[in-house]
Amino acid sequence: MLIDTHCHLTDQAILPDQAAVVQRAIAAGVQRMITIGTGPEDHQRVLKAIESYPEVFGAVAVHPHLAGETAPDFIAAMWALFASQPRLLAVGECGLDYHGPSANAALQRPVFIQQLDLARQLKLPAILHVRDAHADALSIMADYADIPHVVHCFTGTAEEAACWLERGAYVGITGIVTYKNAPEVRAVARMVPEDRLLVETDCPYLSPEPVRKIKINEPAFVVHVAARVAAERGVSVEALAQSTTTNARRLFGPRLE
Ligand SMILES: [Zn+2]
Repeated sequence: MLIDTHCHLTDQAILPDQAAVVQRAIAAGVQRMITIGTGPEDHQRVLKAIESYPEVFGAVAVHPHLAGETAPDFIAAMWALFASQPRLLAVGECGLDYHGPSANAALQRPVFIQQLDLARQLKLPAILHVRDAHADALSIMADYADIPHVVHCFTGTAEEAACWLERGAYVGITGIVTYKNAPEVRAVARMVPEDRLLVETDCPYLSPEPVRKIKINEPAFVVHVAARVAAERGVSVEALAQSTTTNARRLFGPRLE
């Protein structure tokens, strides 16, 4: 059994086909999925997905790309969501994304920090989105060492991964690990200790090889991510599935069952 620890089943690319996508995942041995809500409208769609499929769990937060659009009471609104649905397992994805010219660090930082405060109050883990912003994110997380967290879709260097691992972070590996131009992600996939590794699709983005030509990625394809990570580490797919599933349950708690 595999768990896709980070997918977007409520993305417009997947939504019309959502039930079939979930069924294909289950048929492929991906018996748990954590779907991520990126902003207020998406949070409602995540709740609906959780209620529709027993295999689907969720996490909600404001994605750094949407940090400029938060309402003044967004933390209270998120609090109410978590209170209403125990299968929301984590605050995420939140973080910092300095990629591209439109990135606004001054907007993103306080939104990130408020959500870490929420995770602490709710005693929930956090799913971090960190792109081209590892130094700042590490410095903020120094004050939140008590919050279990995963750096999802890890695209930093091995040195940056080492800094996160030293802090106790989990590292999420996506289909990027299968891309020819991503030797650094493969190096990270090899170096992460067995008890800190997670696999994910981040679908509908990042279809892994050998299905990269299928433009809309889906949780069933996490088997390809797992196969490549297992090969890089020189372990069997079964062993990797077992360790990453154990890790996901340790991080996200017994409700993931
Ligand atoms: Zn995501």
